Amino acid sequence: MKTRVFSGMQPSGNLHIGNYLGALKNWVRIQQDYECIFCIVDLHAITLHQEPAALRAKIEELAALYLAAGIDARECSIMVQSSVHAHAELAWMLTCVTPVGWLERMTQYKAKSATQESVGDGLLQYPVLMAADILLYQAGIVPVGEDQAQHLELTRDIAQRFNALYGDTFVVPGTSLPAVGARVMGLDDPTQKMSKSATGLNHAVSLLDPPDRVRKIIMRATTDSLPAVDFEAAGPGVLNLLSIYQAFAGADDDEMKRQFTGMRYGDLKKRVAEMVIAHLEPFQQRYRQITAEPGYLDGVLRDGAARVAPIANETVRLVKERMGLYT
Ligand code: ATP
Ligand code: MG
Repeated sequence: MKTRVFSGMQPSGNLHIGNYLGALKNWVRIQQDYECIFCIVDLHAITLHQEPAALRAKIEELAALYLAAGIDARECSIMVQSSVHAHAELAWMLTCVTPVGWLERMTQYKAKSATQESVGDGLLQYPVLMAADILLYQAGIVPVGEDQAQHLELTRDIAQRFNALYGDTFVVPGTSLPAVGARVMGLDDPTQKMSKSATGLNHAVSLLDPPDRVRKIIMRATTDSLPAVDFEAAGPGVLNLLSIYQAFAGADDDEMKRQFTGMRYGDLKKRVAEMVIAHLEPFQQRYRQITAEPGYLDGVLRDGAARVAPIANETVRLVKERMGLYT
């Protein structure tokens, strides 16, 4: 039997090259080797306020982006979190075995709650729901960007605690990070990770941005006060541009040094912009084809949910039995 892989993205904001390089690209690469479930985590998106009509539209947009990136819906299950009830159900049971101190320590909770006037409980509970998503399917591997490594560590802690309290129930999952592109930084501020929810106009290149916008944002990226690329002394903005190029090009470190050492920043930015545009163009073409087919995405999502629900329901049944709940 193939090891199961689970991962997801929130249908909030516009998917950017960080989401692609950190996670989606890896999903496409490993989809033939594992039994993959790729989720649209709408219950996670509502931890911050979303306009209902916009959220509904973003769910299908995200499904189309998964497919445009090359996820094969016949091989993998693409599904929406809220369409499989077991996610929310298991999250409650796991909440009851999770110390609140574990959650208050999470970097994402601290960063996101700092932007809110009133902090919703969902923001604190977010990693427990994420643990439920993964443990529900007994996933062995979770391919994510580096920012989610801490939540994965917590998922393992929750699984181990549950297993110790109630007997072996959950597979303890491993994390899979890409070698390059695991943490793409904001182009306007390379000390912050690129995020869908960030508001800066020149913060991110979105996967559906037209070429002229991609060029504009990259040409305006924050660099440092050196005149040209020096791999030993480069600041975070320049290293970020280099790693974006490297991740898209699939170049090794030696090749990067050969190509870019001594290059002036204006030329570096042009090279990065053209590399990104060359990858986004065919992607956007596929996106337009996929979204032009009425009913197709809905079919993919319903089919995905129908395939995975029995796995999820069986885990909930087992957890209820182990905890002494009424089954
Ligand atoms: P939000 O600001 O709404 O949290 P996000 O950009 O962090 O948006 P998520 O939906 O939370 O996106 O994460 C989807 C996937 O993309 C996760 O696997 C996450 O680790 C990865 N990811 C997010 N940001 C980056 C980044 N800057 N670099 C690499 N991977 C990233
Ligand atoms: Mg995030």
